[in-house]
Amino acid sequence: MDSNALSSLGNLFGERLRTSLETRIAYSFDATRKVHLPDAVVFPETAGEVRDAVLLANRHRFPIVPRGAGSGFSGGALPVRGGVVLSTERMDRILSIDTENLYAVVEPGVVTETLKEEARKRGLFYPPDPASLKFSTIGGNIAEGSGGMCAVKYGVTRDYVLGLDAVLGTGELVRTGVSTAKGVVGYDLTRMLVGSEGTLGIVTRATLRLVPYPEATVTLLAFFPGNRNAAAAVNGIVEARVTPSAMELMDRTAIDCVQAVTPVSLPEGTGSALLLEVDGPGDAVGREAGRVEEACRSRGALEVRRASSVSGREELWKLRRSISPGLLRIAPVKINEDIVVPRSRLADMLDFLSGLADRKNVRIINFGHAGDGNIHVNLMISGVDAAETARAEEAVEEIFRTTVEMGGTISGEHGVGISKAPFLEMEVGPLGVSVMKRLKGCFDPNGILNPGKIFLDEAAVRG
Ligand SMILES: Cc1cc2nc3c(=O)[nH]c(=O)nc-3n(C[C@H](O)[C@H](O)[C@H](O)COP(=O)(O)OP(=O)(O)OC[C@H]3O[C@@H](n4cnc5c(N)ncnc54)[C@H](O)[C@@H]3O)c2cc1C
Repeated sequence: MDSNALSSLGNLFGERLRTSLETRIAYSFDATRKVHLPDAVVFPETAGEVRDAVLLANRHRFPIVPRGAGSGFSGGALPVRGGVVLSTERMDRILSIDTENLYAVVEPGVVTETLKEEARKRGLFYPPDPASLKFSTIGGNIAEGSGGMCAVKYGVTRDYVLGLDAVLGTGELVRTGVSTAKGVVGYDLTRMLVGSEGTLGIVTRATLRLVPYPEATVTLLAFFPGNRNAAAAVNGIVEARVTPSAMELMDRTAIDCVQAVTPVSLPEGTGSALLLEVDGPGDAVGREAGRVEEACRSRGALEVRRASSVSGREELWKLRRSISPGLLRIAPVKINEDIVVPRSRLADMLDFLSGLADRKNVRIINFGHAGDGNIHVNLMISGVDAAETARAEEAVEEIFRTTVEMGGTISGEHGVGISKAPFLEMEVGPLGVSVMKRLKGCFDPNGILNPGKIFLDEAAVRG
C-alpha cells in the first residue's frame, strides 16, 4: 500500500488505524490457521466510517477485507492480497429489540451469543447457533450463512435476516429488505448479500427475525449398532412427523475419539449414536419425545437415554461436545469439511468415507447434523508428512466429487473462501461461476472487497 493511502486512512481513523507488526499479525489468520499479513487494520465505529474507508480504497485501489471474530473455517477473513483488514469489533451494539414485531436491529460486531441471551431475557429466541456462538459475530454469521445444531428445525442465519444496511464495493451505502414479517419488493438484495463472504458488501446493520422461546426441551441419546440403523432412525423420526431441534450423528470414529478424552458408558456393540432434542410447548414435547424414542427403538437402537432437567440434558450432550477437544488429541492438523448430502444418502456417504479412509490410509472422523444431511468430515494428519498430506488432499477432492454426484453440496455452513475456491465450478458449473462473477462486477466493479475469495486464485489458495 502506498504511503498516501495510509496517511489518508490515518486522517480518517486516527489511532484506530493500526500498522504495527503485532496488530498486523493478530489480524493475519483465522480458524484455517493460514497466515496472510494485512498492511493495516482499521476499527470503524460507524457505517459512515466504513463507507469512507471503501471510497478511499477505490481512490487508491487497495483491498478491504471485512473481519468479525476471525473464526471462519474457509479463509474468508484472510487478507490474501494484503490491503486493509476492517474489523467490526467496535460496531457491537444491539440497537433495539422489538418485542411486539419480533425483530432485533444490531450492528455487525455483536457476538452471536450476546444477541441470543438478550432475546432470551425477553422470552424470545434467535435460533441460529453455530458452535462458535460464544465468539463469532453476527456480521460473520451473515456473510457465511452460518448454521448450527438447531438448523434442522429452525433453519440457518439466512432464514432470520429481514434486512441489511451494507456498504457496497463502490462505497455506496444500501439498505435492503424490510422490518416487517413479509416483503417482496424488487430483487432480494438481502439474500444476495447473505453468504457473500464479504465480497459484495460490508454489513453495517442487520434486522433479524426473532421467535418465541420454546417452553420446554427434552434430550435423548440413542445408541445403534451402526450408521445404517441410525440413518434409518432419522428417516423414521421424519416419518413420525416430528421435527427435532437437534439430530446429531456420531459415527464410530467420532465415538472412539471422545472415549479417549471423556469416557462415556456405551452399550455393548455401539457403532453409532444419535443425540436428539425436541422442544416446544411442555405437554407436546413429552409426546414428541416418545415418538422419537419409538422411532429409534424400532430401527434397532441398543439403548435410548432421555433427560429433561438442565443437568441431565448436559450429561447427554457430553458425548457430542467432547468431539472437538477429542480431535485435538488425534493429530495436530485437521482438514475440516462440511459437506451436505440428501438425508436419504447419509448412510451411503458414511460408508463411502469409511472406505476412503482405508484406501487413502488417512484417519477420518465423521459427525454432524444428521437431520440436515450435513456431515463434518475431519481428516486428521500430522502436517509434516508430505505423502500423507497429498493423500488427504486427494481424499478431499474425491469427497467433494462424490458429494456432488449424490446430489449434495460441498459446504453447508463454512463457505467457499479460499479453501473451496478450486471446487466451486465442480458444484455450480461454468455458467454458475460466470453469473456470480458478473454479479460481483455490479456490486464491486473495482474488486475492492475481499479479493481472492470464492473464485479460484492460485496464489491465495497456496497460502
Ligand atoms: C470452534 C468453531 C466452531 C464452529 N462451528 C460452526 C458451526 O457450528 N456452524 C457454522 O456455520 N460455522 C461454524 N464455525 C465457523 C465460523 O465460526 C462461522 O463461519 C462464523 O460465522 C464466522 O464468524 P466470524 O465473526 O468469526 O467471521 P470471520 O471469520 O471474521 O469472517 C468470516 C467471513 O465473513 C466476512 N465478514 C465478517 N464480517 C462481515 C461484515 N460485517 N460484512 C460483510 N462480511 C463480513 C469476512 O470477510 C469473511 O469472509 C466454527 C468455527 C470454530 C472456530
